[in-house]
Amino acid sequence: TGDMGTGPMEKVLADIHGAFQSHTSGSVASYIPELATADPDLFGLAVTTMDGLHYQVGDSQVPFTIQSVSKPFVYALALRDRGTDDVLARVGVEPTGDAFNAITLEPGSGRPLNPMVNAGAILTSSLVLGSDTEERFTRILDGLSSFAGRRLTVNERVFTSERGTGDRNRAIGFLMRGAGALRGSVDEICDVYFRQCSVEVTAADLAVMAGTLAHGGVNPRTGERVLDEEHVNHVLTVMVTCGMYDRAGTWLFRVGLPAKSGVAGGVCAVLPGQLGIGVFSPPLDEVGNSVRGVRACEMLASRFALHLLAPQ
Ligand code: GLN
Repeated sequence: TGDMGTGPMEKVLADIHGAFQSHTSGSVASYIPELATADPDLFGLAVTTMDGLHYQVGDSQVPFTIQSVSKPFVYALALRDRGTDDVLARVGVEPTGDAFNAITLEPGSGRPLNPMVNAGAILTSSLVLGSDTEERFTRILDGLSSFAGRRLTVNERVFTSERGTGDRNRAIGFLMRGAGALRGSVDEICDVYFRQCSVEVTAADLAVMAGTLAHGGVNPRTGERVLDEEHVNHVLTVMVTCGMYDRAGTWLFRVGLPAKSGVAGGVCAVLPGQLGIGVFSPPLDEVGNSVRGVRACEMLASRFALHLLAPQ
């Protein structure tokens, strides 16, 4: 990392960083005690291009927990392990308009509405192959590491904090199990999910992970094929419709890219065939998206005319 050029990308990233570093709106997530200790001034931004070039500014190498940004990537791993039909039968692809931790399931079947809300993400984690909890989590960590192009690790303090305050997620798990949608031990599956949320990444990692989706499933830095193109298409689709919580519409209007955010302040966005974007800044808006993360992507999209639905 750190291939610093002097092209326009460098200048635009510096402009964006300068424009929003002093913004102080939003507040750091506090529902998980360990997340409440995050420094609200942190702000890092990174972009990875398809030829493996990497641009970054600010706190792009500061680790934070991936949280919900893990959801599209673990969905990718479930598609890889189970195939599209099996995964679709178990987790829907309809946006909800609910909060990320809503206790909303499809009436009757108990099928979660999409893989980007907690219900769908917990079920998705249970679909990754593995004969026990440890093997399943190891496969998830290996998969996330392949997307990032480096060995990722778990922040054990955040994991312990998540697990200690995760009753709402367990409740969602029990409802899904009661309806026959989730199979196996709720406690074990939730532990896999809490661990997955506690994997540490940097904004630079998120740019490479998003870049791997942009590059049709091949990591642009390592050359490793992580995912089939068909599955990349499915992952990007749910990111477009459900990736930014209850702001998916506003986000698509303003930025126009598939994306995912997490409560630790991470945001990743994908411009297929072109680039992956990673942003980190802990203060969140009222729906749980990083304030600077959203602003930074809006400005980047506008400066380079990245909106996918713009006239060509
Ligand atoms: N660990 C978090 C939870 O399930 C992840 C949520 C998020 O980033 N929105 O509560």
